Amino acid sequence: MRREFSAGGVLFRDDEVLLIKNPSGVWSFPKGNVEKGEKPEETAVREVLEETNVRGKVVDYVGEISYWYQLKGEKIFKRVKYYLMEYVEGEPRPSWEVLDAKFFPVEKARELLKYKGDKEIFRKALDKLRGSAP
Ligand code: ATP
Repeated sequence: MRREFSAGGVLFRDDEVLLIKNPSGVWSFPKGNVEKGEKPEETAVREVLEETNVRGKVVDYVGEISYWYQLKGEKIFKRVKYYLMEYVEGEPRPSWEVLDAKFFPVEKARELLKYKGDKEIFRKALDKLRGSAP
């Protein structure tokens, strides 16, 4: 069984949140592989910038999700840590790694997110943003 470890960001600009459409055509949060010697929060900032052209600043940790997927018949167990981010600069522009990158109002994002883990992370991020208990 192979394992992967990624990190990503839930980045807000005013009342909107930044999503990417992944190669499977599913709206999700920008993320990517944690490289050797990199802290997950550094990965999160780097991957958000690489995938969307938007620079963020980590303000809090949101949580970790995990899922299984298959690649050429091999089962892969993946963990992803997510960080709450504030907008710094840049207009969303999808890189070659993703199909689209855009800011959406919270209600619209809630409708677009499909993965169970993403929905949980979004709930937690909104709780943190609104300053309520975890
Ligand atoms: P990374 O963005 O970390 O570099 P990747 O693009 O190689 O990773 P994933 O985004 O993990 O790979 O996608 C691999 C498979 O898992 C795809 O089939 C994708 O649809 C699915 N997948 C992606 N995110 C989730 C999730 N949160 N829950 C369940 N399945 C997911």
